[in-house]
Amino acid sequence: MRIGRAGALTDTGRRRTQNEDTFVCEPPLFAVADGVGGAQAGEIASRLAATALEERLPGAYGEDTLAALLREANERIYQHSLDDRTTAGMGTVVTALLVDEAHGALAVGHVGDSRAYRVRDGQLEQLTTDHSLVGELVRTGRLSAEEAEQHPHRSVITRAVGTEATVAVDTFTITTAPGDLYLICSDGLTDVVRDHEIVSLIAAADGDPHAAAESLVDAANRGGGIDNITAVLFEIVEGEPAPAPARVAAVPEEATADPELPEADTEAVTAPAAEVRRHGPGDGNRWLALAAIVLALVAATLLVWWGLTR
Ligand code: MN
Repeated sequence: MRIGRAGALTDTGRRRTQNEDTFVCEPPLFAVADGVGGAQAGEIASRLAATALEERLPGAYGEDTLAALLREANERIYQHSLDDRTTAGMGTVVTALLVDEAHGALAVGHVGDSRAYRVRDGQLEQLTTDHSLVGELVRTGRLSAEEAEQHPHRSVITRAVGTEATVAVDTFTITTAPGDLYLICSDGLTDVVRDHEIVSLIAAADGDPHAAAESLVDAANRGGGIDNITAVLFEIVEGEPAPAPARVAAVPEEATADPELPEADTEAVTAPAAEVRRHGPGDGNRWLALAAIVLALVAATLLVWWGLTR
């Protein structure tokens, strides 16, 4: 199996003046981050988290990879809030999905109340459980899912990335199947649009992830648009995984073994990824350009020589 089409959309909504949500839609990595904090701090926090995730080393998969990336994000946000006191207390909830196409596995890492769902055989299944006061009550059976949807304190989260020196990341792995559609979204969608509406809007979009993202965001805005709204969707289809991009081949052997590395090595692990991204494809292009120039020069010389000898 492999990742098929993907689509993502974020929208400020109708009540807020800023969008503190950020998404990552870089197959095989997908994530939604919903920032919290005064002024523009929430936006800074969610962007810092997305940046940390995007520095994932090509070839690194699994729960350990996601947990290490989210701990790295936690460190950066927390440090930023210490360095710049105007951002004190900022943080972000993050839900990230990492697909290992070769093994048909999908790792989930999450902190907070952005949710991951799967649509399989027309059924919507919530994969994550919210790290929120209401979520805890539902988990312990003191509140039904229906009561939770209407609860006045449903947006009070119990965990976030970057608000403290350390963070507890929940991770798990599921098996994917062709035909699966995955959705990650911020609470700006799920607080307004009910599960049965989500599944019918996705069905109406005929499984097209981008069209589905648009109609989900539209539905949340029609329902008031009380918060920033973000939806990231992708499908799993039949077939061989796409060949790895050229830069993956340039990664040294020990670096690709990243999932096995202890968390303390996160810094060392993320650095080569940026290196490879900056230099990998560029070098190849330069050699190609040089070869083309040499060939053109040889051809020109031959033409001139041919012209003179006639
Ligand atoms: Mn939100």
